[in-house]
Amino acid sequence: MSPIIEKYIEIVKKRNPGEIEFHEAVEEVLESLVPVLEKHHEFVENGIIERLIEPERQITFAVPWIDDNGKVQVNRGFRVQFNSAIGPYKGGLRFHPSVYIGIIKFLGFEQIFKNSLTGLPIGGGKGGADFDPKGKSEREVMRFCQSFMTELQRHIGPDIDVPAGDIGVGGREIGYLFGQYKRIKGNFQNGVLTGKGIGWGGSLVRTQATGYGIIYFVREMLKANNETIKNKKVVISGSGNVAIYACEKAQYYGAKVVAMSDSNGYILDEDGIKLDTVKKIKEVERKRIKEYVKYHTNAKYVEGGCIWEIPCDIALPCATQNDINAESAQKLIDNGVFAVGEGANMPSTIEAIKLFQKNNILLAPAKAANAGGVATSALEMSQNSMRLSWTAEEVDAKLDGIMTNIFKTCDKASKEYGMPKNYVAGANIAGFLKVANAMMAQGV
Ligand code: NDP
Repeated sequence: MSPIIEKYIEIVKKRNPGEIEFHEAVEEVLESLVPVLEKHHEFVENGIIERLIEPERQITFAVPWIDDNGKVQVNRGFRVQFNSAIGPYKGGLRFHPSVYIGIIKFLGFEQIFKNSLTGLPIGGGKGGADFDPKGKSEREVMRFCQSFMTELQRHIGPDIDVPAGDIGVGGREIGYLFGQYKRIKGNFQNGVLTGKGIGWGGSLVRTQATGYGIIYFVREMLKANNETIKNKKVVISGSGNVAIYACEKAQYYGAKVVAMSDSNGYILDEDGIKLDTVKKIKEVERKRIKEYVKYHTNAKYVEGGCIWEIPCDIALPCATQNDINAESAQKLIDNGVFAVGEGANMPSTIEAIKLFQKNNILLAPAKAANAGGVATSALEMSQNSMRLSWTAEEVDAKLDGIMTNIFKTCDKASKEYGMPKNYVAGANIAGFLKVANAMMAQGV
């Protein structure tokens, strides 16, 4: 490791013991920033990195609620407001039993650079709770969201911090959260949350935006390398919001998506995944992916299997962090993968990224490739401020333009710093420079 970043990594490890995901996220970003710090001493002299690795504010709170049996339950809620140099904090809320401060900090840290890459005025933040919506009744989810917002409301606002969804937080949860915010504040400030329903301030295409955006980015990356998505065999992990719409857009461009998964196992349909069936199972019935084989008997379901053992041309990890480790990466490479588009946040471990790079696999890094969701959230904020709604075509065209521009920005930065085709470095550098320059301008 370069001595110029070693001291920062030490600070992060010492100040945040046991927060492994956060350590990894910082290390991954700082490693790509070495040439920038060597060239721009002013960032080192002005403590820009020390300030970037310490959240501006982090809030932990109790979320007490009453389950359907009348029993009191208590979860832990978080909001980390990481950096506001270029705009109000912006980032999703994750409800999942694995959530703890280390996960929220890793996601919040990544969000700073992702939001910067969109070219829109949004700072970085993230939040969530160790609540598991799975198996809970509608009423339990509602009571939980109301209790969560009862505390969160004092820390957020349309010009302060604007949360959105993430794993376990979709349109339903955003609805309950907004209802409680409105009740407490006594006014209709719908710019406080994004991912809202279309009838009350939501943006068309927000639901599809992250998934579509990944494919727009991958399309540009392949184009720059004389390749296309058409007729390629694609494997997608996950079957949630991001996975479903990445699949939809990949199929639109003529790809053959053969596999998808959830945390129990994967389905393999060599004839091509029938997305309507996946949507019905996941979006309407909220059931497990294994149900798919009941509708399509030619497909097979593998309980607990590793989806990355399936040979493919393009891999799209769209489930969760650390989904592709070194072993899975090697399997993909041995089976002929030539491009990876990261839909989830930090889905490849640092070792997996190194293996992809060593083998010249085209890698679309999460903080650039999945920025379409937050970019469209920022478009939702614009529409809320203007009190008007754009058509689906208008939003989709803006999203496509933003993703194309993000690719070009990453490509340019990677070339400028002598690492052509290293889009991981390009994304980190371009995202960092805008924030660092704003921090310099605004003083300590
Ligand atoms: P969803 O909750 O809609 O879906 C998550 C999917 O991943 C589900 O299929 C889930 O399976 C699977 N999954 C979750 N945890 C695990 C695990 N530990 N092992 C295997 N599979 C798992 O979330 P999203 O689609 O919204 O988010 C997916 C990823 O994309 C996350 O990393 C998120 O941070 C990132 N992201 C999301 C954005 C958005 O707009 N939604 C924006 C940018 C990034 P199961 O149902 O079994 O839990």
